[in-house]
Amino acid sequence: MPKSNRPKVDRKARMKMAPVPTPERPPEERVRDFDEILVLYSMEEAVLEASRCLQCPTAPCQKACPIHNDIPAALWLLEQGDVVGAAEVYRRTSTLPEICGMLCPQTFCQDACVLNKAGKPINTRRLETFINAARVEQDGEPLPEKAPPSGKKVAVIGSGPAGLTVAELLTIAGHEVVVFERHPRPGGLLLYGIPNFKLDKKRVERKIAWLEALGVEFRCGVDVGKAITFEQLLADYDAIFLGMGAHRPVVPRIPGVELKGVHLALEFLSRANLPFEILPPEWQEEKPFGPRIHVLGGGDTAMDCIRTAVRLPGVTEATCYYRRSEAEMPAHAEDYRHALEEGGRFVWQASPVRFLGDEQGRLKAIVYQRMELGEPDESGRRRPVPIPGSEFTVEVDDVVLALGFRPDPSALEQIPGLELERWGSPKVESQETGRTSVPGLFAAGDLVRGASLVAPAVADARKVAQAMDAYLRGEG
Ligand code: SF4
Repeated sequence: MPKSNRPKVDRKARMKMAPVPTPERPPEERVRDFDEILVLYSMEEAVLEASRCLQCPTAPCQKACPIHNDIPAALWLLEQGDVVGAAEVYRRTSTLPEICGMLCPQTFCQDACVLNKAGKPINTRRLETFINAARVEQDGEPLPEKAPPSGKKVAVIGSGPAGLTVAELLTIAGHEVVVFERHPRPGGLLLYGIPNFKLDKKRVERKIAWLEALGVEFRCGVDVGKAITFEQLLADYDAIFLGMGAHRPVVPRIPGVELKGVHLALEFLSRANLPFEILPPEWQEEKPFGPRIHVLGGGDTAMDCIRTAVRLPGVTEATCYYRRSEAEMPAHAEDYRHALEEGGRFVWQASPVRFLGDEQGRLKAIVYQRMELGEPDESGRRRPVPIPGSEFTVEVDDVVLALGFRPDPSALEQIPGLELERWGSPKVESQETGRTSVPGLFAAGDLVRGASLVAPAVADARKVAQAMDAYLRGEG
C-alpha cells in the first residue's frame, strides 16, 4: 500500500492498548519434547494485536525487514478479518513468510516498530506466521498463475531458503526448474539444521509439497560435483543457481578433535531433531549422548545445540563454553533467554585447548584455558586473549562444535572459469544480480554472504531470480 494511502487511525487510543502476548509453552513442559515452543495467536488475539498498529506512513518496520514486507498493509487487512488478503501482501515480497515469522530475530521488523520505544512493539513476526498459516487453513494457498513455458531449463543446487526462492520464482516465470539436494529430503538448513522447537518441519514439508504442485522437480540424494558434474549441468541446463549455503563447519585445530564423542553441530541437530529414515546414511549410526554435554560457541547455532541437548533423554548437564563474555556473545537475545530458561548452563571466557580420550578413543574430558578480553578486533568485539597458566580440565561425555560455518569451495573449484573469493564463495558481480564469472551461473544466499539468517537469503535470492529470468529471456 502506498504510504499516502495508509488508513487514518486513532493513534493516541491505539498507543494505550496493551500488547497481546504470544505465549510460550512453560520451560519445564517444553524441555520434555521437541515441539514448537510458541503457541500461535487465535484469530481474535491476532486481530486485536494487529489493531494496535499505528499505520505509520513511513513504516519503519517495513524498512527494517530485509524483504520489505508491507507490514502495516497486511495488518490492516487482518484487522478487517481478511486473512487471505493479508497473506497476499506478504506473498508479493516473500516466498517464505510463515517460516520467516518463526525464525526472524526480533532485531529486524519488531525492534524497528515505533511502539518499541514504549516497550510495546507490535508482534510483527508472530502475526506474519499467524496470517500465512491461517491462510493455508482457509484456502490452501492456491497456486499462482504461471507464465507460458519459456522452453528454458534451470538447475538449482541446494534447497535451502535461497534455492527454494529461486525455484519458485523461476517456475512462476515459465521456466522448467530442477532442484538438486545432497540430503535425502529437500529443505536445506530449514530441515537439516533448525531444531523442531523453533520450526515445526511440517511447515517446511508443506512448502515443498506446494512447490512440487507448482511444477518444481526435486532430485534428492544427489551431491552435485560428485554424482553429477558441473560440466554436465552446464551442458544440460540454460542456467544454474548455486544455493548450497555455508555448511562447512569451523573445526578447532586442537589435539583430540578426532575422538568419538566430538560432534559437528549440524549432524548433532539433525540426529536429535529428525526421524532416522530421512538422515543422510553417514549420520544414521546409533550414538547415545551424554549424560554430560558441552557445546562450544556463542552464536544461534550454539543456542540451538544447547537447547537440543537439554531435551535429549539421559542428558543431565548441558553447558555452553564461549571464549568471550556474555556481552560479546553473537546469539540473539531471545535464543539465549530460551536456552537459560530451559536449563542450559554457560561458562564465559574459556576456550578448549585439547580434548582428552580414554583407551577406546572416546572423549572423557576437555582441557580449557581462561581468557581475558583485550582490544576490540575487526568485528568490534573485544578480542579473547589466553591467560597463561589458567588451564583447567572438565570431565565430559560429548562435545558439540558450534563455532561457525563457511562456504565449502570443494565442489566450486571444479567449475572451469569460476572465480572464488579467498573465503571460498563464488565471486559475484553484485548481490543484486548474483552473476558469477561463468555465463549462466548465478549464486546467492549464505554461499555468497556467509552464514546468515533466512530473510536476507530470501531477499538476495529474489533479486537474483529476476536477473536469471532476464538472462534466460536474453534481456540481461
Ligand atoms: Fe505498525 Fe509498528 Fe510498523 Fe508503525 S512501525 S506501521 S506501529 S508495525
